[in-house]
Amino acid sequence: MHEFWKREITFLKKVGPQRAKLLNEECRIYTNEDLLIYYPRKYVDKGSATQIVDIQEDAQYVSLLGKITKVEEVVGKNHKKRLSAIFTDGTGFMELVWFQGISFIKSWIKLYEEVAVFGRPSVYGNMVSISHPELDWQNPIMNAQNAANQLNINTTPPTPSPSKTPISPFYPSTDALSRFGLDSRGFRVLMQHLLEVGLQYVEENLSDSLLAEYKLMGKRDAMKNIHAPENFSKLKEAQRRVKFEELFLFQILLAKKRKKVSVQHLANPFEKIGPYFNEFYEKHIPFTLTNAQKRVLKEIRKDLGRNIQMNRLVQGDVGSGKTMVAFMTMLIAKDNGFQSVMMAPTEILAEQHYRKISEYAEKMGLKVAYFVGSQKKSVRNANLELLATGDADIAIGTHALIEDPVKFYKLGLVIIDEQHKFGVQQRAKLWQKAHPFPHNMVMTATPIPRTLAMTLYGDIDVSIIDELPPGRQPIKTIACYETKRLEILGFLRREIQKGRQAYIVYPLVEESEKLDLLAVEKGYELLSEYYKEYKVGIVHGKMPPENKEFEMKRFLNNETQLLVSTTVIEVGVDVPNSTIMVIENAERFGLSQLHQLRGRVGRGKHQSFCILMTSNKRSQDARKRLKAMVETTDGFKISEIDLELRGPGDFLGTRQSGLPEFQLANITQDQDILQEARKAAFELVENDPDFLLPENQGLKESFEEYLKKNGNLGTVA
Ligand code: ADP
Ligand code: MG
Repeated sequence: MHEFWKREITFLKKVGPQRAKLLNEECRIYTNEDLLIYYPRKYVDKGSATQIVDIQEDAQYVSLLGKITKVEEVVGKNHKKRLSAIFTDGTGFMELVWFQGISFIKSWIKLYEEVAVFGRPSVYGNMVSISHPELDWQNPIMNAQNAANQLNINTTPPTPSPSKTPISPFYPSTDALSRFGLDSRGFRVLMQHLLEVGLQYVEENLSDSLLAEYKLMGKRDAMKNIHAPENFSKLKEAQRRVKFEELFLFQILLAKKRKKVSVQHLANPFEKIGPYFNEFYEKHIPFTLTNAQKRVLKEIRKDLGRNIQMNRLVQGDVGSGKTMVAFMTMLIAKDNGFQSVMMAPTEILAEQHYRKISEYAEKMGLKVAYFVGSQKKSVRNANLELLATGDADIAIGTHALIEDPVKFYKLGLVIIDEQHKFGVQQRAKLWQKAHPFPHNMVMTATPIPRTLAMTLYGDIDVSIIDELPPGRQPIKTIACYETKRLEILGFLRREIQKGRQAYIVYPLVEESEKLDLLAVEKGYELLSEYYKEYKVGIVHGKMPPENKEFEMKRFLNNETQLLVSTTVIEVGVDVPNSTIMVIENAERFGLSQLHQLRGRVGRGKHQSFCILMTSNKRSQDARKRLKAMVETTDGFKISEIDLELRGPGDFLGTRQSGLPEFQLANITQDQDILQEARKAAFELVENDPDFLLPENQGLKESFEEYLKKNGNLGTVA
């Protein structure tokens, strides 16, 4: 890369120390290169901005082009100040509203100047408004008199303003940046300068053959068109080139990791399928395995037979029977003389696994040691002993398992349930308790769309249990407003009379924890009052673990018929007789979370129900989530929709997900480009893994840079 791009941003003309500091702090722009890849977020097409008259009630996001004709501070009924501006594009009027940064925005607004407005409109009757819109002043400096003369708000649609190119890029900015002239327009000016001096230093980093094969625009052309598009088709090509490069680098990283994994981590091969596995399968297994369970077990057996560490993710929707697959894998370990460990994210889950697996293990004369934070020291010490001497074959517990004193006699298999709750490092700690590394299996009930799994888990294998055990009736799901409360209560009573049980789940988030807990307790009191003839239990995360466990056990034994709770019961809890899941304030839950909760019912032979109670205020997104829940019980479909609604970053949680932040590419929306980039990357790593060919020198440098920034990504398990 030309050294121009490494230069600190402060030395670029029009920047200087003060703006440089802001660019560092607000946008993580330190060098000329960082500025170059500060791509526009949107483009305003002056020919085809939405018009105010055309805004639909369910519009998600609009860009408009017009003028602000009036701006004033208003004090609302609640005594709160807001800034209100009237905006028009000749087809109608609308209000722009701000509740923060009022005085700055007021001074920043230029009346009668052409401005692009972006935001999410709300429509109340005939009035449209956008709160906290983004504004982008379109024209260079214009004097006010001139501007006033140009005002013609009563005519039909405004003629597109004359400008060199009809496409105007919009750069994300902040209040602080705007104060120093770096609003979107300011960025445009700066970028223009950067390109004037720097474009000549943009060097191609992809080989000619790659450019030809994937029909990619050259880098210099792409940089120019992304910041100052000549027309839409060039802009599209430029974006495709940039996205391709981002995804290509990421996929090279994954391809390299995959190659390395198969060389590096040696493990003990489990060659035998011996008496433990066979006897259990022939005599003790309480049901017939589904075909999906069998297939996944076969995939696992194949992995275990090699002297390379297994690194497999087992995805299975809630209730698909992952526990049995886990146990049978443990039996293979035992057949080969190894211990197994299974770690769960909560005590409730660990306990449940412990109970289930002990039940199976007992039949085979195997011993299970249990580790959780709340247990007595004497019990803990006894278990430590069992494990260290090899008297116990299986360890089950929470992260208490990763503590130093926990030592194994001969650990060969690590199983982790509900992978998203653990960090990569926690998992690595378990591995270190064995030499060579143990085989590794991660189970998750959060189905990740296949497409995404493929891109994320370039370096691990994925098995999918895509079949539920037979005889389950699909869960009936309904969404209803508060007004239906009495009917729902009556329905619950009838079901309980038939012998069923019900969960009532309330949302709980940190920000409103106190209020949320109050709602849970209130719900508990009301239900106890209403269903006097039945017993109601309560669990939430703020209770001491013993009490939680106590309540869970009572529910499991049908000593309580209704269980009021927060999302602590979200993952894995298994009470087949509980057939009703009522979710209060369902609009506050994410889609995957709703699906997980629903998965707590429908586990037995009786018809199950999921009832989503919502307040009258349902946001756009909430409506979509509820609709998806009512329409499908397919976890993969749900996860596709969830991914669409939230975008990949949010969907997967943190960076721990193994997904880098792309400047431009979007894993969900750019599937086509992703496939191509993946193919190209895997071919490259096959043919020239060390970038030795002369044509790959540019790429080599880019990849080394990329590695510096993202080297720790791309590994999930
Ligand atoms: P999850 O995949 O959500 O962890 P579990 O392992 O808890 O699911 O299994 C859910 C329920 O289905 C359990 O009660 C389990 O005993 C039962 N189950 C698992 N596999 C089968 C099968 N092949 N046939 C019948 N029931 C099964
Ligand atoms: Mg489970």
